[in-house]
Amino acid sequence: MPELELAPYAVTKSTHGRRVLEPSPPGRSEFQRDRDRIIHSAAFRRLEYKTQVFVNHEGDLFRTRLTHSIEVAQIGRSIARRLGLNEDLVEAISLAHDLGHTPFGHAGQEALNDCMKDHGGFEHNLQSLRVVDLLEERYAAFDGLNLCFETREGILKHCSREHAAQLGNVGERFLKGRRPNLEAQVANLADEIAYNNHDVDDGLRSGLLTLEQLSSVRLFAQHLEEVRTAYPDLAERRVVHETVRRMINTLVTDLIRQTEHNIREHAPRCVDDVRAAPPLVAFSTEMHEFNRELKSFLRTHLYRHYRVMRMTAKARRIIGDLFQAFMEDPRLLPPQFNPQAESDRARSVADYIAGMTDRYAIREHRRIFAIEEI
Ligand code: MG
Repeated sequence: MPELELAPYAVTKSTHGRRVLEPSPPGRSEFQRDRDRIIHSAAFRRLEYKTQVFVNHEGDLFRTRLTHSIEVAQIGRSIARRLGLNEDLVEAISLAHDLGHTPFGHAGQEALNDCMKDHGGFEHNLQSLRVVDLLEERYAAFDGLNLCFETREGILKHCSREHAAQLGNVGERFLKGRRPNLEAQVANLADEIAYNNHDVDDGLRSGLLTLEQLSSVRLFAQHLEEVRTAYPDLAERRVVHETVRRMINTLVTDLIRQTEHNIREHAPRCVDDVRAAPPLVAFSTEMHEFNRELKSFLRTHLYRHYRVMRMTAKARRIIGDLFQAFMEDPRLLPPQFNPQAESDRARSVADYIAGMTDRYAIREHRRIFAIEEI
């Protein structure tokens, strides 16, 4: 199949390299190989049983981190293709971006970060990098997946200066105030488009949100109106889907248009120019504002809904209890997580807990604390 022509500012087929030198893969690009390694990793399969807002056992139709990551890849690839960027790289970054997430979504991340506050903290972006650089044990010649620099820099979306200084070339941009490649910028915003929209859909499906409430959000209201005018008798589930898909389309189209404008204005000739320029992948000012309104609606009405807060509280308790139990007695840890040195104990415990799925964490809590399980 003929290769689509890449723009001069795209990441081309060659890479800045892998941490361990490997010959180029015959028959696929470096970034296709990264994507394939990610899909075959254990951490990727675990995403099926990790959630963002709803806990895995709440219903079969809610998004999990796996379906979320696939939606991010879909949106990211569509944008990349339109902009002449490297689709394989966007796909690899999208599929890997949540690999380091704890069980129970943001509640889990916050709880684990609190537990780790005297031990260097816990941050899911850094953990995603740790998974692909170190924790996956699959290859004979190296730890981790030995991904390309460009994929790794895309996975490391945020990073403190303190951590960046310890990460070598992939941390450099945070110290020098530079941007990552455009493919990473696309994956980042595709993530945001995906979760805002699927959280609206899941929020409505769960009954935690209502169409009436959502009518206060301009982006939603405008598309809802459009659907209702065109199809006055449509069943509600279809109305929701039609509205959400139009929202995604509007956001994607706006993002492409604004990014094309930014690229024309800054005229990058290569990836290095992209790194030195301000962020080029962006929404228009108006769409940025609509998007912000949607995010703040979701924060108030969904993420802080009392039923979500109850689950959040339970998740914090589970993570806190597990952390404390393993710290007090590391002999409870499975042997592969038993730290070699006393000084590594907290990080080993964090790695073990972060790798758990929602249901595994619930079961592990029961195995350790419930007397009737003995
Ligand atoms: Mg995400």
